[in-house]
Amino acid sequence: METLLRGAPVRDAIDGEIKLRVKKLKAEGCDPMVATFRIGDDAGEQYYEKAVIKRASEYGFDCKVVVLPEDVSQEEAEAALRALNENERIHGILMLMPFPKRIDSEALTSLLSPEKDIDAITDTSYSNLFTNKKDGFFACTAESCMEILRHYDVDLKGKHVVIVGRSLRVGKPLLMMMLNANATVTVCHSRTKEGDLRRALYNADIVVLATGLTEYYGPEFFRDGQIIIDVGTGRGKDGKMAGDFDSKSWEQDKDPEHLCYTPVPGGVGTVTTTLLLRNVVKAAERKQRNQ
Ligand code: NAP
Repeated sequence: METLLRGAPVRDAIDGEIKLRVKKLKAEGCDPMVATFRIGDDAGEQYYEKAVIKRASEYGFDCKVVVLPEDVSQEEAEAALRALNENERIHGILMLMPFPKRIDSEALTSLLSPEKDIDAITDTSYSNLFTNKKDGFFACTAESCMEILRHYDVDLKGKHVVIVGRSLRVGKPLLMMMLNANATVTVCHSRTKEGDLRRALYNADIVVLATGLTEYYGPEFFRDGQIIIDVGTGRGKDGKMAGDFDSKSWEQDKDPEHLCYTPVPGGVGTVTTTLLLRNVVKAAERKQRNQ
């Protein structure tokens, strides 16, 4: 297997599949359409919104961009979301979060139509994952990890997977996805005892790092032959974007040939927007089937 498990070939393969499915939908008279929903002017959210709009236009999707002012009331925000839910043309809605603190996020997101929940944030989507329903929407970052492993032919059956991080958006959905793929899974978090964490990491076949502790996990945590999926994103010691895995120290200390890992940037994050837009296609196809 290659040492660097790059996201680009995975994204390109899924891109091809999406384009074919969009072509088929358009031939049937259905134009996939995505909506983005943002409150306020957070720079990170605007960056993600732009990336989604750009990719959506590359696939030939229509896009509706909803931006509400920072001081919008709860009632106005809920009304704007309801309008997107009810808009027959829109197949998927991306809620850009976190919302301003004044907004009751839980109340707002609970209104999102599960049929349009392309980012898998509703209880229905979590429930579908829990019960292993194949047709649900799944959290894109966690799914990106799974797609990378699938692309590089990693068979998860019976493998010991250790996930470090238990957030609702990454660690927890990944736990269910790994279990559904018949892996044996250990989840570690900030309260895991240091010795338990080190033992688990050393004994794992596959490690997923999702903590945000940039370049924290160096060569002393791992052994030859392991696969590391690095979800973390932050600023490394040199000021450049880096993951949780300290790949530079590994390369200095050990033979890089003896470990497979996803680079940051260029790994997990490369695939997530594509998976989000694949969910728009999934939603459009589902709507076509049910008409
Ligand atoms: P989060 O909500 O802050 O969760 C971090 C998790 O790490 C928590 O479960 C926390 O444990 C655990 N943790 C913190 N310190 C730890 C320690 N010393 N030992 C073991 N576990 C520890 O973050 P997130 O949203 O899951 O994101 C995690 C990382 O992934 C971040 O760097 C984020 O930027 C990145 N990310 C990347 C993408 C992408 O597309 N590439 C997407 C989403 C997120 P507790 O639960 O006990 O607090």
